[in-house]
Amino acid sequence: MYDTIILGAGASGLFLGDLLKKNYLIIEHNTEIGKKIKVSGGGKCNITNKVLSPKNYDGDNKFIRKTFEKFNNKDLLNFLKRNNLKVFKKKKNQYFFESSEVLLNYFKKNVKNVLLNTQILGIEKNKILTSKGEFKAKNIVVATGGVSFKKLGASNIGYKIAENLGHNIKILKPALVGFTVQKQEEWFKKLSGISFLADIKVGEYSYKDNVLFSHRGITGPAILNASLRWNRGKIVIDFLAGKNMFYFLKNPNKQISTQLPLPKRFVKEFLDVLGVVDKKIKFLTKEEKEKLKLFNNYEFAPAGTFGFEKAEVTKGGVNTDEIDEFMRSKFSPNIFFIGEVLDVTGELGGYNFQWAFSSAFSAFLFLSR
Ligand SMILES: Cc1cc2nc3c(=O)[nH]c(=O)nc-3n(C[C@H](O)[C@H](O)[C@H](O)COP(=O)(O)OP(=O)(O)OC[C@H]3O[C@@H](n4cnc5c(N)ncnc54)[C@H](O)[C@@H]3O)c2cc1C
Repeated sequence: MYDTIILGAGASGLFLGDLLKKNYLIIEHNTEIGKKIKVSGGGKCNITNKVLSPKNYDGDNKFIRKTFEKFNNKDLLNFLKRNNLKVFKKKKNQYFFESSEVLLNYFKKNVKNVLLNTQILGIEKNKILTSKGEFKAKNIVVATGGVSFKKLGASNIGYKIAENLGHNIKILKPALVGFTVQKQEEWFKKLSGISFLADIKVGEYSYKDNVLFSHRGITGPAILNASLRWNRGKIVIDFLAGKNMFYFLKNPNKQISTQLPLPKRFVKEFLDVLGVVDKKIKFLTKEEKEKLKLFNNYEFAPAGTFGFEKAEVTKGGVNTDEIDEFMRSKFSPNIFFIGEVLDVTGELGGYNFQWAFSSAFSAFLFLSR
């Protein structure tokens, strides 16, 4: 009988194993640990962010705040420093490694008790049922993540375990993912590969970052963040990222497309969609000028998203009202849930690893008592 068995050798499970140091076992069905860590942040793993607040997350603010009171971005950076795991800051606030291998190698060296190639099938009281037989533990920590990126090992086992214990699962949705488009926005696909700075509004949230047109619709960091906040309905794109269209149209003798700080191919296509001919600014009619306002205010309703296979994270998950501040199930106090399996999902920028590590730390505080 183990003191603690951790289900899943991903970000949260590995960090908890490292903190516990002994009397634990991690069970993982992949052939290696931390497959998502390896590919994350374009192979450089965006581990955390200089700015951290519950506002960066979709989930219960109070629950998230309490978790960060125990272990926040500064604590994570101190942990990395103590262990000589060098990070650098990119885009002002995001912390990355030179390579994800820096973190992975640390875990490979320090987290020894991992049983690979073993599929978790479910739990019964303190017994874990796996493809390699049953394991018993005083405490079981579910760290099996969300359902996004199946090819990296994702499964729905964590949600199934939670449901069997009587937990509610907040509806699962792909998030940090691109949008597919309806007929009216088929023109996006013709612009595949074009990227520029824009401002996206979705409900009360606004994201200023790059958008990228793709053969499936629209993606890029601003869109990925918007997908976290989107629940059907319209989003609004300001293709000029906050600068008024008419600010650029001052010279009456110049063509519209030469005056806008946007890729020409995009401007031509969008003018076509608006039914405005690219001409000298002095020849624009009042009605055409009205149409041009849509450069600042283009509303569209996405058809859907690129789906779980392309989504960096799974929004929704185990209802945190039913989890205590040490990540313990309020229904089965020797079972813990940490990481993405919980109904806490961060924006782009290192927020999801931060959550994985902070929630693991909360469980550690209880397990190490
Ligand atoms: C392409 C990509 C890039 C990303 N980049 C970033 C980034 O730069 N910064 C950031 O903050 N976040 C990033 N994320 C999100 C981040 O990787 C996750 O939020 C984080 O890994 C969640 O940690 P976790 O421990 O909850 O789950 P995971 O890290 O997903 O770990 C779950 C583990 O459980 C195992 N498992 C699942 N089911 C079973 C089963 N039935 N039996 C046995 N084992 C099982 C899985 O194989 C996996 O090893 C990225 C995600 C993706 C897909």
